[in-house]
Amino acid sequence: MNESAVARARAEIDLAALRANVRVLRRCAPGAALMAVVKADGYGHGMVPVARAALDAGATWLGTATPEEALELRAAGFGPDRARIMCWLWAPGGPWREGVEAGLDISVSGVRALREATAAAREVGRPARLQLKADTGLGRGGCQPADWPELIAAALRAEADGLARITGLWSHLACADEPGHPSVPSQLARFREMVRYAEERGARPEVRHIANSSGTLTLPESHFDLVRPGIAMYGISPSPLLGTPADFGLRPVMTLSASLVLVKHAPGGHGVSYGHQYVTPGRTTLALVPLGYGDGIPRHASGTGPVLAGGKWRTVAGRVAMDQFVLDLGGDTLPEGTEVVLFGPGDRGEPTAEDWAQAAGTIAYEIVTRIGSRVPRVHLNARPD
Ligand SMILES: *Cc1c(COP(=O)(O)O)cnc(C)c1O
Repeated sequence: MNESAVARARAEIDLAALRANVRVLRRCAPGAALMAVVKADGYGHGMVPVARAALDAGATWLGTATPEEALELRAAGFGPDRARIMCWLWAPGGPWREGVEAGLDISVSGVRALREATAAAREVGRPARLQLKADTGLGRGGCQPADWPELIAAALRAEADGLARITGLWSHLACADEPGHPSVPSQLARFREMVRYAEERGARPEVRHIANSSGTLTLPESHFDLVRPGIAMYGISPSPLLGTPADFGLRPVMTLSASLVLVKHAPGGHGVSYGHQYVTPGRTTLALVPLGYGDGIPRHASGTGPVLAGGKWRTVAGRVAMDQFVLDLGGDTLPEGTEVVLFGPGDRGEPTAEDWAQAAGTIAYEIVTRIGSRVPRVHLNARPD
């Protein structure tokens, strides 16, 4: 790794914390297998090291959005003997053949996708492993209940023809992060009905699954045979409404820090950064942090984002630019090169990703996932404990 890049800024990824979080999640759902969701570069934490750590801690499945991500995992050495890999966002004309060859579990929400999967199976000469997805109320991916009989019939025909194996029936929850939301029991009831329909007609899935992190942590009735936590594995609560990470025994995995590249005195009444939205209230010291929206720092955190610098929380002064933003140190001086912490677990006084989410009007998922490729990831504690 490039030393100067590490000196500018870095995201430390504590894989021991990640493994401990996976163990917490397994204890929450002791009767279910665990799929570690590692899409979007492991929510910004680095897909391959995260996948390895999750498997070390007892996950047996890996989940990605795209087949490209799933194939990258196979290429990185996660063969069928080490992990089942499922992905759910297939485009028409996608790498169906490669997916069947690699033994991926392929999500299918309709007959067009099923036809692409079975055509690939015919070419490759082995059955496609199908995870049939039901839209039980999320209204995003998945097969509507009205279209389910047609999809199930077509999948069973493909199975009888040796072109497919129905390995799973699954769905996704819409509002599990809102305690007591009425859509949850209604989605679970619809899921049970759609599973029963498929099984009565002869489907023999290995796994039925619907739980994300919120379901895994708070809804035992959603666990079925497999749970699919993402954000909780990274030590972040799916929503502050459910609780803090510590309430669940989870520890944030990513710490984002940077080195101050310039510290200078400035007079009162001085505009700071583009648009001069911040003006120094008096003679003060300004510090330049070399991270910006090009690194995934939200521009919406202009004037609000918190940073631990010299033992105190400071606030982003003025606008976040593409590569940098400014802190008003209020007259304190810190040596150039001082490390400042944007977010971390929070137990050394630093803000958390959740604090940044609130500052930017978004969710902590987006804060960690958007940290850009220009920020080196430094993986700590890679060796299993
Ligand atoms: C992202 C995703 C998950 C994980 O969701 P979290 O809220 O991060 O736990 C699970 N299942 C599917 C289908 C997803 O897209």
